[in-house]
Amino acid sequence: MDCIFCDIVKKTKPSHIIYEDEKVLAFKDLNPRAPIHVLVTPKKHITSANELKEHDKDLIGHIFLKIAEIADKLGCKSGYKILNNCGKDGGQTVPHIHFHILAGRSLDQFPC
Ligand code: 5GP
Ligand code: ZN
Repeated sequence: MDCIFCDIVKKTKPSHIIYEDEKVLAFKDLNPRAPIHVLVTPKKHITSANELKEHDKDLIGHIFLKIAEIADKLGCKSGYKILNNCGKDGGQTVPHIHFHILAGRSLDQFPC
């Protein structure tokens, strides 16, 4: 199966990695919409939030704890946005679940 984020996880496609552990990879977005724009993704391929299963609960909890650590490490002192686009109408363009961390400017109008 072709998946650009699986390729990034396997490191067959280059990325600017911000954080990595056995379950999670965080890397800079190629087309940043804010001064800080990082994508946090499980190494395991899950297509979207809509495909999450009961056994993924710990993984998603782990990701959210790491998001807070990464935001702290990146110096997002005045806050940040965590964004997940789910499916076509949700604006998801890469079908491997990921969470955007956006920060470094006011994001109160972006987009909700
Ligand atoms: P989505 O629209 O699915 O929520 O977010 C996908 C994000 O992946 C977009 O913000 C896009 O800029 C980013 N992206 C797409 N292709 C690549 C890539 O090859 N490398 C990196 N680092 N980001 C990518
Ligand atoms: Zn994938």
